[in-house]
This record gives sequence, structure tokens and C-alpha cells, in this order.
Amino acid sequence: MRSLRHRLIIWTTSLVFALFAILSIVTYYLQSHSLQDNARQTLAREVLVVRADVQQQVFGYPPIWPDGIRLIGINAISDPGLTVEVRGVAGTLRYKTDSDPNDAPLPITRSEDLQAMSSGTTLYYTRTVQGDRTLIAVTPLMANGNELIGVVHVARSLSEVDAALGNLKSLLVIMNLVALALAVFGGWFLTRSALAPLTQIAGVANAITQSLTKPNGRTPEALRMRVPPVNETGELGNLVEDVNHMLAALERYDERQRHFIADASHELRTPLTTIRGNLDLVRRSPDLSPEERAQAIQDAADESSRMAILINDLLMLARAESSGATRKFFAPVEIDAVLVDVFRLAHERIQAQDLRHLAVQLVGLEPAQVAGDAMQLRQVFLIFVDNALKYAPTGTLTLGMSTTPSRVNITFADSGEGIAPKDLPHIFDRFYRADTGRDREGSGLGLAIARILVEQHGGAITVESAPGRGTTFTVALPRLSHPPSSGGLPDEHADR
Ligand code: ATP
Ligand code: MG
Repeated sequence: MRSLRHRLIIWTTSLVFALFAILSIVTYYLQSHSLQDNARQTLAREVLVVRADVQQQVFGYPPIWPDGIRLIGINAISDPGLTVEVRGVAGTLRYKTDSDPNDAPLPITRSEDLQAMSSGTTLYYTRTVQGDRTLIAVTPLMANGNELIGVVHVARSLSEVDAALGNLKSLLVIMNLVALALAVFGGWFLTRSALAPLTQIAGVANAITQSLTKPNGRTPEALRMRVPPVNETGELGNLVEDVNHMLAALERYDERQRHFIADASHELRTPLTTIRGNLDLVRRSPDLSPEERAQAIQDAADESSRMAILINDLLMLARAESSGATRKFFAPVEIDAVLVDVFRLAHERIQAQDLRHLAVQLVGLEPAQVAGDAMQLRQVFLIFVDNALKYAPTGTLTLGMSTTPSRVNITFADSGEGIAPKDLPHIFDRFYRADTGRDREGSGLGLAIARILVEQHGGAITVESAPGRGTTFTVALPRLSHPPSSGGLPDEHADR
């Protein structure tokens, strides 16, 4: 397979060349036609003049031929291209302009003479005479009114016409060659500049690949490369822009991933340090009091359970991000039942944590189904409940439900401290925690997990918060309006 550029050059060149060739052939044909037509018309006029001259000088019937015939109307002697021949009815040569008697007669056969005489009209032939193409008119000769006395041949050499046509041909061939050269060069130049953006994109792609596959290759540097902007507004210009946008998105993605790994390592290292420190302390200090020893071990145990939770969350996040496959396990879920269950668990946790100033209520409960994984949805709802318990431990927590024909909305409204506007856009980021939340347990993964799981269910989370007055999270999920008999899932894009 040839390269695109070669194919473009071949195509443009062939097209230009074909166009020129056709044009040249048509020009040549028209020109040759018109020149020969002219020659023939000239000859027709000369035939009339010559015939009149001869008729005036031959008398009687049977005719009395003079010794010489003088051509008065045309100057055949000084016109080397013109030859006149007069023959009698029987074919005897009576007159010829050419002075050299050894010259062969004009190549007209007796039967052609007879044909002209019997038809009474002038006939034209193109023959080669002394190497030149020659147009010969054969016309019957009358005398004394209507008596046929012979035949006149008037011949005109077409050498001038042929010379002109030969020149034209050379000119056209040269023009075609020049056009061909220009087409090749123009095609080469045009495709080179037109395809320059592609070359540049390929260059950047190669550079990125090389930099990524080098043993000490660095992703950030590689993804920071961009295709230089081109002076193009069309498809190629757009392509360059799109590729650059893609690279920017990849760079952002890579950066997020990098931060995530750094954050995760940091979060894991902190409890690990405590655990190791405490274990070291217990091992190296034999004179530690039993209470101190018990406390150190208890702290290490607490930290290790925090670590376990964190690792669990990380695993869940990784699993949620890597699998659209979970949809396989989706089934109709009675979302109201899930909410009731979560409400019960909220109660239990409030009691367990002894949150006496927090009241929890459930409003708007109605039967509705969504397609999904009941365990995952329960987990999502508990993330909001746990946050409310942590960040809004006084006042009311209202679990609410409302439906439209196509949606189910689940709300978690608390009357706690709220979220500052500067934090609001970030709370769904992994490891993001508002300053006010720092002193409480947690790693900042809860809402990130919730968002991924809800999105995988085809839903979305919105949040409204007024600092000092409370926060409301709303989870909107696509509703299964009719329980599907075949267990099929609703069309994801039904009412976006
Ligand atoms: P984790 O859930 O991983 O234990 P976390 O609760 O800090 O830790 P997220 O659940 O992701 O993490 O919440 C992110 C941040 O959003 C919290 O640190 C907190 O600052 C803020 N936030 C979340 N829910 C509320 C709420 N109901 N009221 C006030 N602030 C909240
Ligand atoms: Mg949380």
C-alpha cells in the first residue's frame, strides 16, 4: 500500500494530465479539421477559375485543343503548391502546369476520371504526391454548352497545412510535458503542506511512545507534549486541536492517578507508623506498666482496623472504577426497602455512638424499583448517613424519597454545619476532606466511592449546602417503571 501522500500526488497528477491531454487532442482535431476545410474551399474556388480558363480556350466538338493553355485566373507557375492537369475524354494528357515532362502524372486513375465525368460533379481525393500529402479535385470539363470534352485535375499540396499541424503537435506535446511536471511538483508541494499536521501528529505520537517505553521514561514529561498549532481551520486543524485536547485530558488523568497513589501511600503509612512505634515500645520497654502496655496495644489495634477500612475502601474504589462489568449482576431492586433498611441501620448507629441530639426520620416512602445491585446501593446510602452522623451530629437527619415516572430521588438532608462553597466542588474527589472535617475519623474516600457507584447505576448525585444550616445530598436513579418480565434492564439513555 502506497502512502496517502503518494496516492494523492498520483491522483492529482493523473487528473491534471488527463485533462490536458483531452484538451490537446480536441484542440488538435479542431485545428486540423479547420485547416483542411480551408484548403478544400480554396481548392474549390481555384477549380472554378481553372475550368473557366480552359473552357474559353478549347473550341468545337470534337474539341480543337490549342497548343498551350494559358491560365489567366490563377498564377499556377509561381505557386509551386498548385498543379493543373487537363485530360481529354479518352484520357489523353492535353495540358500540365509542371514544366518537367518526366514528372509522373497526378495519381488519379482512369476510373476516377470516368466517375467524375459521369456524375458531372467535382470529386476530391487526398493522395501523396512527391512525398507531400496533396488534395486533388477532379472536375468534368464541358464545352459548347453541354458537351463533355474532358476532365481537369487541380491539385494543391497540403504541406503547409501539415507543417502547421506538425508545429501545433510539438507545441501541445511540450505543453503537456510542462503540465505534467507542474502537476507533479504542485501535487507534491500541496500534499506536503496539506498533510503537514498529520506528519506533526505522527511525530508527537512517536515521541510520546518512545518516551513512555524508554526504561527511564517519564509519563508526565511524555504527556506534556503537544502538537504545534497549525494554520488550518478545516478538518486537519480540528484534528490537531482534538489530539491536543486528548493529550491534555490524559495528562490530567495521569496526574490524578499519581496524586491518588501518593495520597493512598501517605494514608497507609500514617497508621503503619503508629502500629510499628507502639509494637516497638512494647517490645523494648519491659518495665512498662500493664495499663500502658494495654493502651499501646489497643492503639495499634485501632490503627490496624482503620487501615483495614482504608484498604477496603481503596479496593472498592479500584474495583468500582475498573468494572462496567458489575452491570452484569444488576437486577430489579426495591429501592424503598433498601431505604428502610438504611433507616434502621442509621438508628442503630446513632444509638451505638450515643448521638442523643440527632433525630433521624424517613419521609415520602413509596414503592419503586431501580435496576442495580442492592448491596451497592445500600452501601452508597450508608456513606451519606455516616457523613451526617460525623459532620452533623445534632439536629435532624431526614431520609426522603420522591419519584417521577422515570426517576427515583433519594435525599439525605441534615441540619449540620454545612459545607463551605470553596469545598463544595471538591468533596467528591478522592481523599478530599474539608478543613472542618479533618479532626474526625475518615480518609475522604466515601463520597468518591458513592459517586462512582451511582454513576454506574446510570444515576447522578447532587449536593446543596448552606454553611451553618445544613446539607442535602440527592441521589437520582433511573426508575424501572414496569417490572421487566424477562429481567431486562431499562434503556440507559431513555430520558437523559
Ligand atoms: P471517609 O468517608 O472516607 O471516612 P470523609 O467522610 O472525610 O472520609 P467523604 O465522605 O468523601 O470523606 O466526604 C468528604 C468531605 O465532605 C468530608 O471530609 C466533609 O468535609 C465533607 N462532608 C461530607 N458530608 C458532609 C455533611 N453531611 N456535612 C458537612 N460536610 C460534609
Ligand atoms: Mg464519609
